[in-house]
Amino acid sequence: MNLFVANWKMNMTRGQARAYAQELGAKIGDGVSGCELALAPPFTAIEAARDPGARWALAAQNLSEHRAGAFTGEVSAAMIAEAGCRYVLVGHSERRSLFGEDGPVLARKLARARECGLVPIYCVGETEAERREGLTAATLVRQVETLADDPAEAPLVVAYEPVWAIGTGRAATPDDSVSAAAHLADLLSSRRELRLLYGGSVHPGNAVELLRNGRVDGFLIGGASLDPAAFVAIARAG
Ligand code: PGA
Repeated sequence: MNLFVANWKMNMTRGQARAYAQELGAKIGDGVSGCELALAPPFTAIEAARDPGARWALAAQNLSEHRAGAFTGEVSAAMIAEAGCRYVLVGHSERRSLFGEDGPVLARKLARARECGLVPIYCVGETEAERREGLTAATLVRQVETLADDPAEAPLVVAYEPVWAIGTGRAATPDDSVSAAAHLADLLSSRRELRLLYGGSVHPGNAVELLRNGRVDGFLIGGASLDPAAFVAIARAG
């Protein structure tokens, strides 16, 4: 089943999240058939974004690599799971580039997520420079190595998000996203339950085209997901 995840990033107060959830609920009625929706709010708005009717799931945008203790400002996997999240983003390119999260840190975060039954949405993707130098495939190989110790039988979501396409209005072409998805499917062929998402400047106008080939199992959506109408339009494209 296709999965559509709204990554709100550092947007939405609790009040705004509540209003969004209400509007989303009104728009989808009994739900969007044939696909799964998830909202990834900031930690403070997780509760406010919850749907009592469970028509969408919740995802955290990040988690600590530690279980508990003296780590001021961090939020643990157990806290996230108890707050009602099913998913957690791991290795979003903003975490990698702005907060220096590398393979070993991300592997520890994956392990913490699994200990608490959270399903990771593991993000990968090459930078503009890597792409120019023909290093897209090599970058994906390196980033997938971080999953080496993640149990193959556990459900996993991997989001291909080329860094040059995030927030730029310049989405990958369907051909680019298909070839990355095919490569990732190959690298992750031992996984029992794998969904491959695409992310980077997805909007209602390009969603159908990006999904047409059937190789991509949904989207991770940033900017456009801040508008519930656009988020629903994208999900309905699937
Ligand atoms: P965007 O962000 O849709 O605004 O490009 C995607 C993401 O960063 O997950």
